[in-house]
Amino acid sequence: MTPASPVGHLELVTIGTELLLGFTVDTNSAFLGRVIAEAGVRVSRRTSVRDDPEEIRSAVSDALARSRFVITTGGLGPTRDDMTKKVVAALFDTPLDFQEPIWQALVERFARFGRVPAESNRGQAEVPRGALVLPNRWGTAPGLWLSGRLGELIMLPGVPSEMKGLLTHEVVPRLAARAGGRAIRSHVVRTTGIPESTLAERIATVEDSLDQLTLAYLPGIEGVDLRLTAWDLAEAEARRAFERAEGGIRAIVGDHCYGTGDDDLAAVLLERMKASGLTLAVAESCTGGMVGERVTAVPGSSAVFLGGVIAYANEVKAGLAGVSTDAIGADGAVSEAVVREMAAGVALRTGADLVVAVSGVAGPGGGSDAKPVGTVWFGFSVRGAVDAQRVVFPGSRADIRGRAAQFALHGLWRRAAAPPPGR
Ligand code: ATP
Ligand code: MG
Repeated sequence: MTPASPVGHLELVTIGTELLLGFTVDTNSAFLGRVIAEAGVRVSRRTSVRDDPEEIRSAVSDALARSRFVITTGGLGPTRDDMTKKVVAALFDTPLDFQEPIWQALVERFARFGRVPAESNRGQAEVPRGALVLPNRWGTAPGLWLSGRLGELIMLPGVPSEMKGLLTHEVVPRLAARAGGRAIRSHVVRTTGIPESTLAERIATVEDSLDQLTLAYLPGIEGVDLRLTAWDLAEAEARRAFERAEGGIRAIVGDHCYGTGDDDLAAVLLERMKASGLTLAVAESCTGGMVGERVTAVPGSSAVFLGGVIAYANEVKAGLAGVSTDAIGADGAVSEAVVREMAAGVALRTGADLVVAVSGVAGPGGGSDAKPVGTVWFGFSVRGAVDAQRVVFPGSRADIRGRAAQFALHGLWRRAAAPPPGR
């Protein structure tokens, strides 16, 4: 049915008015892009169109004319009058045939849920003549793979779980078989506390020496992820190239690099602290518990995390974190003196080995020349030895708080590496 030639690239057409209105985020495209890369196929372009026959027709025929291989999602259900299928059948100049086995499978599926299919469901058993039917175990509308003069077209349902099931079990194995072991592989190196432009300057030498890989900078609130991609290497070869590149990056950025893949800084911190038998507490003002939240989101955090104080009001900073009124009076709540006392006070009250204290101006109001919005003071207590750091973060209130929480975790992680004083 499907010719054995490898598919180098293809186009996606996602169908659904809701995608263009922004009510539904097009997660199908993101998933498809990632998964078919594993079969060595690149997405060269993607288009989203309304549930409109003429727009579907022109998007599909343009994409086929450019790329000869297209995957669509959406518009296969009973509610939309099988728009995609009708349009495609007309485009490929082939009739729609009612297939009794598909109908029977549908009747059985409905029966399992104690229901009888409606007349409108009959359309789901219609197939453009010559199409390969991809059985849908996750829903009602089968996927369809049509080959013809215009090229190849795969139609998948819009419902993300059904699309994923069909793609993973029916489409990718066929594409992979044709690719002969080729795949697009990625490896992510996670960095934090170093701006994208600085990072780019520092690792320019590594970037220049990447002959078989490409490098993408993915900045976010938690830092900059570096995604290395091998477009056409065998698995072992790709792994070696990733190791070399990661080694080069780590040698330059040092402990700005805290992990790879989807490593989470809080998890990495807890692992390190657990290994050295250290305990942790927090004293949070502008982050309002975000550091504690990040830490307790990690399963098993109770082995390390004792608790802490959300010391937002000055009275709580004084009463529960042990900050003196002198410290607050001297230079306000966002100050070196206050975070030092917060860290020391919570260390004393909890007995934790490591404590981070955070106090800052998250904005949008409340900034001044001396303390602009984004100014955050961090106090760290490591077995009673206290130090402090001031950082000014860019962005919105949410950005500043998120960056501050990440900075706090990073500061703890770095300090947990050094042998604790007095040992
Ligand atoms: P059904 O058989 O359920 O009618 P369908 O193929 O007609 O399936 P749609 O009606 O287009 O699919 O979409 C079904 C659901 O899937 C909707 O909730 C829609 O928001 C969601 N959906 C459709 N396309 C996408 C997409 N590209 N990304 C994420 N969700 C999507
Ligand atoms: Mg739709």
